[in-house]
Amino acid sequence: MKSEILRVGFVILLLGLLLPLSVAATSSIDPLLREAETLRTSDPKAFATALVELGKMEDSATPNQKRQIRLLHVYQQMAGGQYDAAIKDALSVYEESSEAPLKFRAALLVANGAAITREFSLGLRYLESALAIQDQVNDAGARELGSLTAAILYNQYGQFALGQHFAERLLAQDSSPRSKCFAQQLRVEALFGLGVPPGDEKEINAAISQCVTAREPIASNLLRGYLARYWVSKGKTAQAIELLEAHLSEVEATGYPRLIGEINGLLAEYRLSVGDLSGAEDHAHRALAKGGKDAYSLPLVTAHKVLYEAALRRGNLATALDEYRQYAEADKARLDEVKAREFAFQLSRHELQQKNQSIELLQRQNDVLKLQQEIAKKSALNTRLGMAMLLLMLGVGGYWAYKVKRVQMMFRRLAQVDSLTEISNRGHFREQAEAQLARCAGSGREAALVLLDLDNFKRINDRHGHATGDWVLKQVAAACRNACREGDLFGRLGGEEFAILSGGADLAAAQRIAQECREQLARIDTSSIEHAPAITASFGCATTKLCGHAFENLFMHADRAMYRAKAEGRDRVCTYEDNPAVPLRAPAIA
Ligand code: GH3
Ligand code: MG
Ligand code: MG
Repeated sequence: MKSEILRVGFVILLLGLLLPLSVAATSSIDPLLREAETLRTSDPKAFATALVELGKMEDSATPNQKRQIRLLHVYQQMAGGQYDAAIKDALSVYEESSEAPLKFRAALLVANGAAITREFSLGLRYLESALAIQDQVNDAGARELGSLTAAILYNQYGQFALGQHFAERLLAQDSSPRSKCFAQQLRVEALFGLGVPPGDEKEINAAISQCVTAREPIASNLLRGYLARYWVSKGKTAQAIELLEAHLSEVEATGYPRLIGEINGLLAEYRLSVGDLSGAEDHAHRALAKGGKDAYSLPLVTAHKVLYEAALRRGNLATALDEYRQYAEADKARLDEVKAREFAFQLSRHELQQKNQSIELLQRQNDVLKLQQEIAKKSALNTRLGMAMLLLMLGVGGYWAYKVKRVQMMFRRLAQVDSLTEISNRGHFREQAEAQLARCAGSGREAALVLLDLDNFKRINDRHGHATGDWVLKQVAAACRNACREGDLFGRLGGEEFAILSGGADLAAAQRIAQECREQLARIDTSSIEHAPAITASFGCATTKLCGHAFENLFMHADRAMYRAKAEGRDRVCTYEDNPAVPLRAPAIA
C-alpha cells in the first residue's frame, strides 16, 4: 500500500463522485452554492472564482450556508494539497454542524484527508462517525459516496472483509455505472486481499467491461492487474504479460503513480519469472521512476527485489547487494506501514468498543436506576400491602377477639342469667350474694335477705297453662325488680322462688322491700287472663345482724320466715326474728 493508493481514493471521490450539497433554495446564495458544486468537479478555475464570489456574500449567509461555503473551501484545499488545513476546517464544520448531511460530508472529508496524511486513527474514527450517521442522510448519492469511501479506505487499511462488505453494499444498491465500476474493482481487490480470489475470471472480466464502459481507465487497469495475477496463479504467465503490456501505454497515460507502479511491478516480476532479465529490469526501473516516491510502497519493494534477483542472475554482485539492501529497507518500511495501519484499525476498534461499552454501561446504569425505582415502588406497594395485611390481621384478630368475647359473654350470660325472667339465676345470685356479704362483713355493714315464693302458683299453671305461668313469672320478676333499691341483688332461685339481697339494709329495710314487692305484685295487670287469680307471694326476711354474714345461714333463716308466711295464710311478709320457733325447711339452695 502507499499513499497514492489513498490519494486515488480521494481523487475519485473529489473529482468524480461527490454530489452537490443539498441546499434549500431560500436565498441568492443557494444558486451560487449549487453552481460552485457543479464547477468543483468540472472546472477548478471557475470553482475558485465562485468561491471568491461566495466569500463576498458570506456576511449575509445563514450559519448553515456559511458551513457549506467552508466545506467547499475544504475541497479546494484538498485539491491543492493543503491537507492539514483542510482536515482542520472539515473537523470544525463537523463539530459545529447539527445537520446530518453536512456532518456526514465533513466526516468523510476528514477521513479522506487523514488517510492521505497517514493519520490512520483519525481517518478511521471519522470514517466510522460518517458511517454511523449514514442512515440519516436522505440523499441516496451521498449515502453511496459513504459506502464507496468506506470500501476504499477499509481496503487501504488492510481491512478487506470490511472493504468487501461496503463494496457489495454498493453493488446491491441501484448505484451509478461509475460507482458500480469502482465497487466491482474494490470488491475484487478485497477478495485478493483476503486471499480468496474469484473462482473464475468471468467476474473480473465483467468488472473490467463495466469500467471500460464507464471510461474509468484507472479502475479497469487495476482490474487487469488482478486478472494478470489470476492467470499467473493458473500458470498462464505469458498471457498475463501480454495483457499488461497491451495496456501499458493506457496505464502510463493516466499519470497515476499507484497504477503505473503496480502494473510495472507486476510486469517486472513476471518477466523475471520467465527469464526475461532485461525486460524485468526495464519495468522495475519504470516502477521506481513513476510509481511514487514513498518508501513503503509495494511496487518499490517489488522493483528492488526484481533488480536484486536480476543482478544476482547476471552475476553482478555489487548491484545485487545494493538492490538487496534497498529491497530490505523498502520491505521493512512497508511492513511498518502495514503494522501502523493495522494498529490504527485495532485502536479505532478499541475506541469504538470502549464507546459502545460506555454506552452499554450507561444503559445498564439506567436499567439499574429503573429497577431501583421499580423496587422502591414495589417496596412501597409491599409496605402498603404489609400495612393492609397488618390492618386486616388486626381487624380479623380484633373481630375474632370480639366474637370470642361475645360468645364468652353469651355463655357467661347463659350461665348467669335465667333465660325466662332475664334476672340472675340461682348459682349467679348465690355467687354475687356471697361476695356482697363478704364485703359487708369486711366493712361491718349489715345486709338483709328477702325470699319470696309465689302463692299457689301450681294452680295458675294448671288452670291457665304453662305459658301463662311463664308470663306470670316474667311479670313477677319485673315487678320485684322495681321494688329493689339501687345496688340490691335480685335472682330467681328456681321455680316460682325469688330472692333479694340488700347490702346495708336492716330488718326494717328488708320488710319495706318485701312490702314494696307485694304491692308491685298486686299491681300486675292480669286482665288478659280470663278468671285471673291474684298474684301474691309469701315473703321471708332475715338479716346478718341475727344470722351472721354466712350466706347459708342467712338463707336458712329467711327461708324459715317465708315458710312461716305460707303457714300463716300466704300473701304476707314474715321476718326471722318474728318466730324463731318455727322449724327450718330443708335448705332449698346449695
Ligand atoms: P304454695 O303456695 O304452697 O307455694 O303452692 P304452689 O302451688 O305455689 O307450690 P308448689 O311448689 O306446689 O308448686 C310450684 C309450681 O310451680 C310447680 C311447677 O309446675 C311450677 N313451676 C315451677 N317452675 C315453673 C316454670 O318455670 N314455669 C311454669 N309455668 N311453672 C313452673
Ligand atoms: Mg315453691
Ligand atoms: Mg309456690
